[in-house]
Amino acid sequence: FIAVFFNCKDSKKTMTNSNLDENIEQKVDSVLALMNLEEKIGQLVQYASGGDLTGPESSRGNKEKASKIKKGLVGSLLNVATVKEVREAQELAMQSRIKIPLIFGYDVIHGFKTMFPIPLGESASWDLEIMKQSAKIAAKEAAASGLNWTFAPMLDVARDARWGRVMEGGGEDPYLNAVIGVARIKGFQGEDLSNKNTIAACAKHFAGYGFAEAGREYSTVNIGENELHNTILPPFKAAAKAGVATFMNAFNDIDGIPATGHKILQRDILKEGWNWNGFIVSDWGSIGELVDHGFAKDKKEAAIIALNAGSDMDMESHSYGAHLASLLEENKVSLANLDDAVRRILRVKFQLGLFDNPFKYCDEEREKNEIYTKEHLAIARDVAKKSIVLLKNENNILPISKNVKSIAVIGPFADDKNQPLGNWRAKATYNSAVSLLEGVKEKVDKNTKIYYEKGVELTIPTVKPGDNQFMIPLKMNTEDRSGIAKAVAAAKKAEIVFLAIGEDAYQSGEGRSYTNIGFAGLQNELLEAVYEVNKNIVLVLSNGRPMDISHASEILPGILVTWHLGSESGIAIADVLFGDYNPSGKLPVSFPRNVGQVPLYYNQKNTGRPYSDIHVTYAGYDDSKKTALYPFGFGLSYTSFSYNNLKVDKETINADGKIILSVDVKNTGKVAGEEVVQLYIRDLVASIVRPIKELKGFEKIMLQAGETKTVSFTIDKEVLQFYTSNKKWEVEAGEFLLFVGGNSTTKLKRKITVE
Ligand code: BGC
Repeated sequence: FIAVFFNCKDSKKTMTNSNLDENIEQKVDSVLALMNLEEKIGQLVQYASGGDLTGPESSRGNKEKASKIKKGLVGSLLNVATVKEVREAQELAMQSRIKIPLIFGYDVIHGFKTMFPIPLGESASWDLEIMKQSAKIAAKEAAASGLNWTFAPMLDVARDARWGRVMEGGGEDPYLNAVIGVARIKGFQGEDLSNKNTIAACAKHFAGYGFAEAGREYSTVNIGENELHNTILPPFKAAAKAGVATFMNAFNDIDGIPATGHKILQRDILKEGWNWNGFIVSDWGSIGELVDHGFAKDKKEAAIIALNAGSDMDMESHSYGAHLASLLEENKVSLANLDDAVRRILRVKFQLGLFDNPFKYCDEEREKNEIYTKEHLAIARDVAKKSIVLLKNENNILPISKNVKSIAVIGPFADDKNQPLGNWRAKATYNSAVSLLEGVKEKVDKNTKIYYEKGVELTIPTVKPGDNQFMIPLKMNTEDRSGIAKAVAAAKKAEIVFLAIGEDAYQSGEGRSYTNIGFAGLQNELLEAVYEVNKNIVLVLSNGRPMDISHASEILPGILVTWHLGSESGIAIADVLFGDYNPSGKLPVSFPRNVGQVPLYYNQKNTGRPYSDIHVTYAGYDDSKKTALYPFGFGLSYTSFSYNNLKVDKETINADGKIILSVDVKNTGKVAGEEVVQLYIRDLVASIVRPIKELKGFEKIMLQAGETKTVSFTIDKEVLQFYTSNKKWEVEAGEFLLFVGGNSTTKLKRKITVE
């Protein structure tokens, strides 16, 4: 059998693509030549499985799966996540006729057991190196637990704060999502997918899920071709180019065509257009859901549509496994399409080295020693502190001195060791994060008095402590005010209050859309009561989305956005509160003034009635400003920066030329700090209406007090092109504005002309 893999004499070559590894292609063809139809269809089948597959404890469903695996009728399992379970399942696959190894997928979204900040939080670091690093560690831990594939990164541009999955991506901007996505993919996959510390990544959800109407989970998506190409697809194109091994399609339709059955998206754009050779897994059940969409009359028809459209692997809808054989016989799907899907799946399995050693990821020693290590936690702390965004710091309330006389740490999240782990927490241990209170205690002088009060419970438990809250609705506490008086008493005694309120970890994530993006439950009452007795409050916000914090922002002197920061949350926050780390995060999403403003994003298109001096703030609504409360790209530091001397080396180029834009950035404050220098462009006149500003580059730099650095950006085709009315990516002649600054509202600019 092995000989057949390497004897490629009669293998049909499909070497039209220079990205392909000839050696692997030959092996793929050799295996394909051995497979019968049933086995080919089997490769396209993915089941979820947890627990015992074969032992006395195994359920009927698991026994059935086990028997199918033994017959070679399953290509992949998801949600199996220990070496023992992986080994057991892989052993079954090795009993099959041609012993094709299973590939094991899992949602490793922001860490495996060592938890990093939720992706949106981590994106606020604008630090691609550390994002790569956290993905690398997540991959290493997952691989040490038997896994070889993660369903991450999520690349959905997300502009509606109501949508729960905002937490899972890189925010509202296509460019930022693209570069972050590539960093994460490189972190997960490394240089070489066959390395035992790396796993295959998955660019998801292809495409449009982030534009769910009104932020309603799983809702329809109504966007036009320009928005699709210029906003939604760029992060995916970058992922394909970076060599992401797999894609996942999406639950939604786009303008009437469900993504799972979208041939233009999957075959024409991704596979043909971008010359991408990996495989597409459906989202959970989404092939079967073509029936619910009213796009297929039954699962059999759904299987035809999905396979023809290029969906390669069926995650848990049982449509391919049940129907492809008869569909082939009836000539309703082609063998060529089936073979193409199988080939793609085998290719990734070869790239992972699973054929060489199916048990390569099954190492109990590694599982024991390489997960949740001190070294990983130290990096988690580093990533966490870099993800924090300082939004307000009136009268320099922060940083505070470590020998402050007294601090009140108040709020439902003040001593919470569970919430910081966030949603999509993989194998994190319940209550394993460092709480804010613990972090504060570690920092302060022994004479500092700390008063802790929860004040209010945010939720009334609906599951047992430690049980998975995934998809189980939260119940907000709206009645029990019994702790508020004690919180007030604590606040009265203290010099400063850290008020830890915001969102539960499970208020964002899949199935977690909300129409209220303010403080749920009794948190507003707590805030008011504490504020009555002590105005010296720093809001330590826990959040998985841009929240409506308008009122708090009006009255409180200090605001830190701390997202759900992962295992080392509390100590990382304390690093910032006490000035051991100078905050450097910038918002990857606009913070709205109220829920009525959303979807809100900085890179809106020009309108026929644009901002004028009179209407600068009120154009759009009578009862609310139109602008964000805190704009995209915004974040303060304990120092300040000035931008001077913005220049271009020339003012005119042709479409293939390049201009160097440079700016001097100076640290004008008293302490060292990092600044994210951001480049935005505006195409003044174009063949389609373009955004008022678009992020096109950034650089995070460290400056000592008083230090100046010159930062340069290259302005070329990459920066200036867009998907034009010719339905092509091209640079159009005309004038462009180039903006540079510390957030998306910057007005510092130069004009250039493309001839
Ligand atoms: C989600 C995916 C996820 C999959 C597997 C789906 O419901 O939309 O993002 O990877 O489940 O857990």
